[in-house]
Amino acid sequence: MPIGYNKIEVLVRLGRIRSNFRLLEAKGGRVMPVVKADAYGHGLWPVARALAEEGARTFAVGTVEEAADLRRAGCRAGIVSLLGPLDAWEYEALWEFGAIPMIGEFGRLEELARVASRMPGPLDIGLKFDTGMSRLGFSEADLPGLLDRISGLAGLRPVMVSSHLAAADVPDLAGFLDGQAETFRRVVSAFKARGLEVEANLANSAAVMARPDLAFQGQRPGVSLYGANPFWGTDLAELGQGLEPAMEVSAPVIEVRDVARGQSVGYGCTHRVEENTRLAVVAAGYADGYSRGLSNRGWALVRGVRVPVVGRVCMQLLMLDVGRAPGVEPGDRAWLLGGDGPQAIRPEELAEWWGTIPYEVFCLLGLNRKKYV
Ligand SMILES: *Cc1c(COP(=O)(O)O)cnc(C)c1O
Repeated sequence: MPIGYNKIEVLVRLGRIRSNFRLLEAKGGRVMPVVKADAYGHGLWPVARALAEEGARTFAVGTVEEAADLRRAGCRAGIVSLLGPLDAWEYEALWEFGAIPMIGEFGRLEELARVASRMPGPLDIGLKFDTGMSRLGFSEADLPGLLDRISGLAGLRPVMVSSHLAAADVPDLAGFLDGQAETFRRVVSAFKARGLEVEANLANSAAVMARPDLAFQGQRPGVSLYGANPFWGTDLAELGQGLEPAMEVSAPVIEVRDVARGQSVGYGCTHRVEENTRLAVVAAGYADGYSRGLSNRGWALVRGVRVPVVGRVCMQLLMLDVGRAPGVEPGDRAWLLGGDGPQAIRPEELAEWWGTIPYEVFCLLGLNRKKYV
């Protein structure tokens, strides 16, 4: 359920997600859209439905519960749960909802095998390998034992092999990426050598854009589908040309007031007005996911002009110095992300002011009520 007590509005432009999908597919391999965490805050089912119409055949979610939600919403495509079963009920739910779990360690494999032995039919599973993230997944050293074990499991059918890249968006770490890719290729070969027909997928957004040689049979872009460029601010930034941010966030100006030189603004008196100006008070704050870390750092777009956040961001309010934006009135919309015209605020910019990455910006602001166009 979205945050329901506020005035902030998240606009999701599904047409842009569709066009980002087409752009990413045009770079090479099949795209398995990553729609975990409510499609990075953009809305699980609206996004998946739009991308299914564009031809997406499999979606990647995080938890099994998300897979169940997507299936219940009406999704008929393949669904991969990247986290796999964690709680007891999630094992059987994989059969009920027809989801492919990624399995990355022996304990869950054995538990799943136990459940499989009492289920009527076999379950398709994916196997996840750690090639450098040190997070989830079997290691290369596990391969012989793992291959022996899964060959003997009638109730589980391995159909996918995955690994996750740690630094594909860091051009300076291309060598690390190559190392991960090499390990992954050996893993895939070992499956092939056993006669196991598995779909391999490795690439996240950055690799889809920069490394068509790593397309394998599937790719798993997330953030780029939503229009953020993983290479923003790097030498490879132009690889993201054409990606269009799909999320725009605005809140109403509820008051405009004149303030005189020397007056302080907001809690803690952290901003002092240097010359007479006007402030717009906007109905958005950290309770809406607009971080207090943006105090005296963020910018908004009002009437096409970029204006700074002044003073501390409050729980449900923030103040903008609109001295340079003539004619601002209560009822105007302040765009905290996106907005019209060349001054539109990019997710990468907002993330930089915020001290984070566009992923977190989308996830947090996406907790608010959404409108689709
Ligand atoms: C989130 C996630 C992705 C997508 O990564 P982006 O950087 O958003 O493209 C791909 N694979 C896995 C396993 C993930 O968890």
